Amino acid sequence: MTKKIAIIVEHSAGRVKSVIYELLSMAKKIMMLEECKITLFIIGEGIDKLSQSISMDTGHDIYAVHTPGFLKYNGSLYKEIFSKLFTQKNFDYICAPHSISGMDYAPALSVALQSVCITGVEDVRVEDGEIYFLRSMFGGKLTAKFVNGLNPLVMTIQPGSFKPFFLKKEKTGKAKTGKARSGRITRMVYKYNENTMVFTGSKVSPCKGSELDKADVIVSGGRGIGEKKNYKYIEMLATLFPRSATGASRPICDYGWVKYSKQVGMTGAFVSPKLYIACGISGSNQHVEGIRNSKFIVAINSDPQAPVFQIADVCIVEDVIEFIGIFVKKFKKEKLITRGLEKAAIKASARMKN
Ligand SMILES: Cc1cc2nc3c(=O)[nH]c(=O)nc-3n(C[C@H](O)[C@H](O)[C@H](O)COP(=O)(O)OP(=O)(O)OC[C@H]3O[C@@H](n4cnc5c(N)ncnc54)[C@H](O)[C@@H]3O)c2cc1C
Repeated sequence: MTKKIAIIVEHSAGRVKSVIYELLSMAKKIMMLEECKITLFIIGEGIDKLSQSISMDTGHDIYAVHTPGFLKYNGSLYKEIFSKLFTQKNFDYICAPHSISGMDYAPALSVALQSVCITGVEDVRVEDGEIYFLRSMFGGKLTAKFVNGLNPLVMTIQPGSFKPFFLKKEKTGKAKTGKARSGRITRMVYKYNENTMVFTGSKVSPCKGSELDKADVIVSGGRGIGEKKNYKYIEMLATLFPRSATGASRPICDYGWVKYSKQVGMTGAFVSPKLYIACGISGSNQHVEGIRNSKFIVAINSDPQAPVFQIADVCIVEDVIEFIGIFVKKFKKEKLITRGLEKAAIKASARMKN
């Protein structure tokens, strides 16, 4: 029997939050294990254009609930609408982002549906024909494996855990989710009067939209760098890589050596670069929690027993400042030699042609 997956679309300032493409990716993973149909759900004011573009981009059907007077997220409204909708419509999986709002409405929704909620899902696996959902617990010390016992299963998905699902790339190289056929849009208006929750304003987190989100390579410094002025070594190392950014562990943000927008970890940014270089960072659970989705991790630490080495792909036991100093010098020298050799080779081939 075809299973049904609901994906909740979060949006702000007329734009869809990109985590929806990660939710789609997770849904596609479930679809590889069992036959499923995806439907998207969006709530808000002035969401016509947004619903159209999502249905075109994803090719999936979308349920658009128009809520006049409610431009911004409102917890009591979301809980009421979703409880009513999902009581009428039977879904097997209801997926929301593990965002501030997702963490608010998803557990409440599962209570209303007398069902269950798994928060912060990071992976989906199948064992002996059964689907499991994985998430880390106790600051990353344990990985818990959940199997669904009740329908529907409400889940919040940890951003950065699934590669965003894009259908094709445009010639411009820009990621595009476009599908030839767009999904069906079901439009309904919901009048909500009983407002028990009042929106008073929002502040952008210092980590959001920072360069850490987009960087391919992140070089982070920790307490092991010794003092504030040594952070320049972290910056020096980062400049060797294109599309790079610098990060930090929490203590050096607390000391005021760098801005909080650079903090990586459980209470900072969750990052997923191609390469993460941890410099003078011990590897506490709270830091590791934020970097576990990095594709490749290099750690530089003077203590061979540092916990960070347990998760690193390359472990360098050295004084971090000394190592970076020598490495940067050597790198630049090698690059000059390579450039010199390339130039000489071009000259030689030109001479041969003449
Ligand atoms: C609720 C809560 C939330 C938290 N959230 C976060 C978070 O989001 N992000 C985060 O980072 N932390 C967070 N923390 C703090 C976390 O528990 C650790 O204290 C912190 O990550 C340690 O930072 P560190 O590795 O830079 O420092 P330390 O643990 O002091 O490690 C310094 C490391 O540098 C090495 N070292 C020293 N000298 C040198 C040298 N010359 N060369 C090379 N290596 C050297 C040492 O061997 C050591 O391993 C949180 C804590 C709590 C309680």
